[in-house]
Amino acid sequence: MINIIDLSKETSKYDVLKGIIERGDKESKSITEAVEKILADVEGHGDRAVRSYTLKFDGVGLENFEVGSDEIEQAYNSCDKDFISALENAKERIWDYHKRQLKESWITNNQKGIMLGQLYNPLERVGIYVPGGTAAYPSSVLMNAIPAKVAGVKEIIMVTPPSSQGGINKNILAAARIAGVDRVYSIGGAQAVAALAYGTETIGKVDKIVGPGNIYVATAKRMVFGRVDIDMIAGPSEVLIIADESANPRFVAADMLSQAEHDTLASSILITTSKEVAQATLKELEIQLEGLSRKAITEKALRSYAAILVVESIDEAIEFANGIAPEHLELVVREPFSVVGAIKNAGAIFVGEYSPEPLGDYYAGPNHTLPTGGTARFFSPLGVDDFVKKSSLIYYDRASLEKSKDDIIKIALEEGLDAHANSIKVRFE
Ligand code: NAD
Repeated sequence: MINIIDLSKETSKYDVLKGIIERGDKESKSITEAVEKILADVEGHGDRAVRSYTLKFDGVGLENFEVGSDEIEQAYNSCDKDFISALENAKERIWDYHKRQLKESWITNNQKGIMLGQLYNPLERVGIYVPGGTAAYPSSVLMNAIPAKVAGVKEIIMVTPPSSQGGINKNILAAARIAGVDRVYSIGGAQAVAALAYGTETIGKVDKIVGPGNIYVATAKRMVFGRVDIDMIAGPSEVLIIADESANPRFVAADMLSQAEHDTLASSILITTSKEVAQATLKELEIQLEGLSRKAITEKALRSYAAILVVESIDEAIEFANGIAPEHLELVVREPFSVVGAIKNAGAIFVGEYSPEPLGDYYAGPNHTLPTGGTARFFSPLGVDDFVKKSSLIYYDRASLEKSKDDIIKIALEEGLDAHANSIKVRFE
């Protein structure tokens, strides 16, 4: 099913994975043009345009997009009680983890007559996009809404496309209630992103839009960036597992499959120092695949975007992992903590064989919205920081300004900005 590649025999190591790294939905001219039109229509015609696109793309004629609190309550009450309790437990852990990310405003006055500082304020209103179809994950509602709540965002608005019968998945509504989402609208696609970015008669505009979605949603988010903030453009998901001879191939294969079942573009890569682990994992993949309910998707993802690489040392595996900058990185080696410090590029690092990726997807506390496609080189997981903005604070008394005035006037005049220089001079004439 997957070829085992001996990396020592490859001259250009990263080329081996080029097809995997560069996978993903590509924006095309036709998609860009379609999204541009949707954005312009919603900006110009508000609810009327949103209504018409919802009918066109989702097949539902909705007069009112907002999901009432009764419907949300009903959905919550009709969910499996153990599921609700599991979500509540997950919420507690996610909340606790994100609470530690809160930063306090600060002011320094270590120079007489001068105060400088940075004030932190939460964003007022945030929109969360929750994809429709089979990709509707209640866990994503928690992971997107809780950091915003912890940051102190006043209003969290969730949008998600309606099903063909006009309703919304009850588990998604229950998660929204648990996470403290304030309003829910059953709209999706680029029209939902436009409504959040520009506002309509019934939907207030937000300051930031977060959450994954298909290529139309991703393109719309990219295009409204600047009018509003966005989180990141999430690509297809991936896991990279570094394993030595101590790794249990059953565990490694199970983790590769758990990634591959996401969608046909998901990627699972194993890098191991052990040929035996490589062979045994391959065998396990075939055995475990048979029992999966999403076998077709999983198998397609494995055939297209999985790889098993054999390297000579853990150092070589780490160097390779840092080059790929995976979204999820599992360290299944004898002494995983001795390796952690060498990892420079990864969205989330799962340490040891009892920390599989699903633990982080749902429950441990860290956010599961992570940089994909190599962007962990410069992006970080979604967190409280994403929902906070900063203002600088500057105070000088007369004596302090007088002491600095010549420098400021000099710089202003060199820049040719007389009025800037004057603003300082007039205070001492
Ligand atoms: P979606 O909510 O992203 O998109 C549905 C909307 O797409 C529809 O409401 C419609 O408005 C719009 N649309 C569909 N066809 C269109 C067309 N021809 N022209 C204009 N607009 C059109 O739901 P989905 O389509 O099921 O996709 C879910 C996506 O979310 C997948 O790509 C999946 O990979 C992604 N996802 C990613 C993550 C992650 O963390 N990276 C998690 C969950 C889902």
